Amino acid sequence: MIFGARLVVPIFLISFNVSFNTVGVFICKGPKSMVYHKSERCKGLLKCSTKVFRVSLSEAKRLGRRACKLEFR
Ligand SMILES: [Zn+2]
Repeated sequence: MIFGARLVVPIFLISFNVSFNTVGVFICKGPKSMVYHKSERCKGLLKCSTKVFRVSLSEAKRLGRRACKLEFR
């Protein structure tokens, strides 16, 4: 059973990374926004004063965004 669980986790992480890169990330374009979020329901986006935009991860990095501390630890 333990062996089976170990096998499943890496596969899950790989597929997660692929879909994450394809779907993109969410950013707020408010003046204090410095990070990107993987979920548009993230607590960090609740206080966003503008619309929430979906961009690719590379675009978010080009804009100088860092990963959201609430989601990426
Ligand atoms: Zn976040």
